[in-house]
Amino acid sequence: MAKLEVKDLHVSVVDEDKGTAKEILKGVNLTMKTGEIHAIMGPNGTGKSTLSQAIMGNSAYKVTSGDILLDGESIVEKPVDERARAGLFLAMQYPAEIAGVTNIEFLRAAINARRDPDDQIPVMEFMKLLDEKQKILDMTDEMSERYLNEGFSGGEKKRNEILQLLMIKPKFAILDEIDSGLDIDALKVVSRGVNSMRGADFGSLIITHYQRLLNYIVPDTVHVMMGGKIVETGGPELAEKLEAEGYAGVRDDLGIDV
Ligand code: ADP
Ligand code: MG
Ligand code: MG
Repeated sequence: MAKLEVKDLHVSVVDEDKGTAKEILKGVNLTMKTGEIHAIMGPNGTGKSTLSQAIMGNSAYKVTSGDILLDGESIVEKPVDERARAGLFLAMQYPAEIAGVTNIEFLRAAINARRDPDDQIPVMEFMKLLDEKQKILDMTDEMSERYLNEGFSGGEKKRNEILQLLMIKPKFAILDEIDSGLDIDALKVVSRGVNSMRGADFGSLIITHYQRLLNYIVPDTVHVMMGGKIVETGGPELAEKLEAEGYAGVRDDLGIDV
């Protein structure tokens, strides 16, 4: 079992040009273990993506206090690639396009970067794995042979992020609004992909605005984030309550003003 802990995390967004910093996360606490699926819901602009970027190590998001621990060891000083090798994965809200690198090349490089130099994945094994995972996601070889995300529709990009997830097999995956812009069929495919990862060696933090996704990927725990903090934690029923009452309902219940 692996454990990811976020402890009283404060994060500021740094604007290098202006030389300014603004505090976005104001003391986030979260503990998750492999075998568990957690969801974070919350209104726009509350810091959900900031949390995911801070966990992954994007240097634009500066940890000013608190800690992030993987299996008890602080990772806040570690660069992104080391965190990835340690088993963290982030599917981004806005996946990047990379010209000149095909999906297949990218996937092989990403897998091999996580393995010892003398234990690189054999080509046949890689192709077999790719074939198997593409099938789960209703993807074709043609998509994998294209340049990374170039000319992909929003839905294809999200599907491709999930293909990366299934190929790389991280310990913990943070999925930032993988449901945004998906129609119901694409949502089902993406959910099938994530559900295929479920098991004792995999944990996921699913960030979403909408309860809909959580009908397909049923979380063990739901957190509500507002104003840069987690203000409530519960089971899947909390997502349903949010759907029914909106974030305003949670605000009123807790008497918070953010
Ligand atoms: P959410 O994902 O919950 O919608 P975000 O984490 O994206 O929220 O944003 C939280 C706040 O931080 C917003 O006010 C947003 O404008 C600001 N912010 C996030 N990233 C940056 C950035 N790279 N530069 C400047 N401001 C940012
Ligand atoms: Mg947002
Ligand atoms: Mg966001």
